Amino acid sequence: YIVRIAPMRLGGGTEDLFLVSFKDISELRRIDRMRSDFVANASHELRTPLASLRGFIETMQGPARNDPKAQERFLGIMLDQANRMSRLVDDLLSLSRLELKAHIAPDQMVDLVPVIGHVRDSLAPLASELHVEIRLHVPEEKVEVLGDRDELVQVFENLIENACKYGQEGEVVDIYVRNPAGGSVEVSIVDHGPGIPAEHVPRLTERFYRVSVTDSRSKKGTGLGLAIVKHILTRHRARLVVKSEIDQGTEFTVRF
Ligand code: ADP
Repeated sequence: YIVRIAPMRLGGGTEDLFLVSFKDISELRRIDRMRSDFVANASHELRTPLASLRGFIETMQGPARNDPKAQERFLGIMLDQANRMSRLVDDLLSLSRLELKAHIAPDQMVDLVPVIGHVRDSLAPLASELHVEIRLHVPEEKVEVLGDRDELVQVFENLIENACKYGQEGEVVDIYVRNPAGGSVEVSIVDHGPGIPAEHVPRLTERFYRVSVTDSRSKKGTGLGLAIVKHILTRHRARLVVKSEIDQGTEFTVRF
């Protein structure tokens, strides 16, 4: 609390009176703490690939100086680490841009059908690398929502990429776009992967949260994807609903 004490005198009286006011700043403190945790986490995530890069550079200058085979392998790892850093920086920039735009409401009429089609096409190389088939189930007519096209592309890219990465190799990812009369527009992304244990589900949209049991460490990712999704959906007044069953799969639904 911040406590303020102000002396005051009423109607020419002689008594000393004081006005005492209390202001609860626990919410401000909480936001402040969240901000500094975030900076600490972001720095840590950036330092890990940086330390690895430095290690490999030193090894290449020293013990591996005359070993072209080892050098080639190290260069491959270094490129992976540099890519990881640039994914992190891109995601951090996305989050900070979204924070700047928080008070501006998205106002384009966006047809979700071509958006989903575009995302499917842009993820085709990843899907084929992982032997995943992305199947679309969309209505004939337009399914329009008020939004920001680029941000919605980012939402579905993240969700569909996750379904491909964490789903089952050689399986299908189904995407349903529904527009029931009088109901809310929904897009569901369904995979047939290992599922997510219930205790992790409420924390998925936290920054840097990754579920180790889904073997996420071995997959490329920053742990920021769903935090970005949540941010964008909040701006769109849309909700993210997650249903998951172990060994059956996971369904992420965006409800506008
Ligand atoms: P990442 O960059 O790790 O993919 P996200 O924020 O997109 O970060 O996702 C957070 C974590 O949620 C992932 O690391 C993964 O453990 C889990 N996850 C997300 N989508 C799925 C899914 N479809 N099936 C299983 N686990 C998932």
